[in-house]
Amino acid sequence: MERLILWDVDGTLLSTDGIAAEAMRTAMRQVVGPAAPMARTAYAGKTDWQIIRESFPSLPPDAISERLHEFVAVYLELLEAQRAALVARSRVFPGVVAALEALEPAGYQAPLTGNIAAVAQLKLECVGLTPFLDLAAGAYGDDHYHRPELVPIAAARAAARYGRSFHGRQIVVVGDTPHDIACGKLNDARTVAVATGPYSLAELLAHQPDAALPDLTDAEAVVAAVLGAA
Ligand SMILES: [Mg+2]
Repeated sequence: MERLILWDVDGTLLSTDGIAAEAMRTAMRQVVGPAAPMARTAYAGKTDWQIIRESFPSLPPDAISERLHEFVAVYLELLEAQRAALVARSRVFPGVVAALEALEPAGYQAPLTGNIAAVAQLKLECVGLTPFLDLAAGAYGDDHYHRPELVPIAAARAAARYGRSFHGRQIVVVGDTPHDIACGKLNDARTVAVATGPYSLAELLAHQPDAALPDLTDAEAVVAAVLGAA
C-alpha cells in the first residue's frame, strides 16, 4: 500500500532558532497592531492564520482574513531579508534526511504545516529539504486556519498530481504537537508523533497517536512507526 506521508515542518523536521516566530510577530505588529502576548507553545501546531486570529482576540475573523494577504507579503519580505541568517541558524533535526530517504519507497511525501506555503518553502529551502518533499502536494497555513482541514486539501492535491486517491490510513500525519495528532485523527489518518518540539514523549502519548518517537534518529523505527502493521 502506497502512503501519502504528510510532514509537519517546525519542531518535526527543523528549527529556525526563533527567527521565523520573531518575523511573524513583527509582521503582525506592522500589519494589524500590537498582538496579545502568547506563550511559546501557543504557536506550536497551529496554522499561521489561526495564530493571527488568536493574537488579536478582539478583532472579528473577517477583519483578519482581509489582512491575511498583506500580512503574508510583509512576513515573507522580512524572512527573505533574513535568508542568510535563516541558512546560518536553521537546522534540520538529526536523522531527518535518512528518514525521508528510507520512506521514499513507501509512497509520496509532502509538507502539512501551519506555515503559509511560501514560508514553508523558504524554511525547507534554507536547510536543503525541498528535494525530499513534493511541495505542490502539501497543504499550508494559508489554505485554511483550522489544521484538520489541511489533510483533505493535501490529499486532493496529491490525487491530482499522482492520478490516484488517498483515504484514511493510506494517509500518515507526522508532527510534534497534540494539534498534529488531532488533525490526523479527525481525518482517520495514521498519526505519528515525534518529541523534538515543545512537547515531551509522555505529553504526546497522552493524546494517543498510533506511534510516537523521541526523535527521528532511528530510520528503521521511523519507517515502522509510519507504516505500522502491514
Ligand atoms: Mg510543529
